[in-house]
Amino acid sequence: MADTRTEFGYVRTSCDCRLCRVFCRHYPGFLIPADLKRLIPPGRDPFEWAREHLRVRVRRAGRPAAGGRTKATAPPIAEALLPATADDGACQWYRGERCTVHADSPFGCAFFDQHQSDRQARNRAEKGFLAILRALEDRDSLYRRLCDYLVAEGLTMDQAAIRRAAAAARRELDNLIECDAHSKGRRKKRP
Ligand code: SF4
Repeated sequence: MADTRTEFGYVRTSCDCRLCRVFCRHYPGFLIPADLKRLIPPGRDPFEWAREHLRVRVRRAGRPAAGGRTKATAPPIAEALLPATADDGACQWYRGERCTVHADSPFGCAFFDQHQSDRQARNRAEKGFLAILRALEDRDSLYRRLCDYLVAEGLTMDQAAIRRAAAAARRELDNLIECDAHSKGRRKKRP
């Protein structure tokens, strides 16, 4: 039976081609508040679970210091929850080249793929980040409390780490696309 999971009126994607899987290896998708209910096993302490499985993406407040860098002393501000990553940068739910939480995977994974237009992806991302923003404004929301907890525990991904992850994903995507173009070119020349 087809997967009919929907969010903000969008139907989830299900492509797991090698281009889409690049992000599992380098840059896991963000969670929206609705993902927590699906992903946290019933009866499990959410904070303990988050410590094991999530990290919080943060930025630093304050004016940039000389050289364009933001002062390291500025407090980190939570932006979004992300799946934790292994030492090689891959999502900790990515095993044997498969997502082990596929049916419940985070919004930032389940509703995006490499075959959408930039506009489609941007519209979906905007809806997701709006839901996150609302949850972060509510001190009592589980999303906000988990973010606060992970920030306090230092379990964060800062902007530099995000940039490195995005660059690694971009490099691998470009390589794959180039390889595909080469092999198509070779195939065309064959009699
Ligand atoms: S949660 Fe699943 S789809 Fe998302 S990055 Fe991890 S392995 Fe990939």
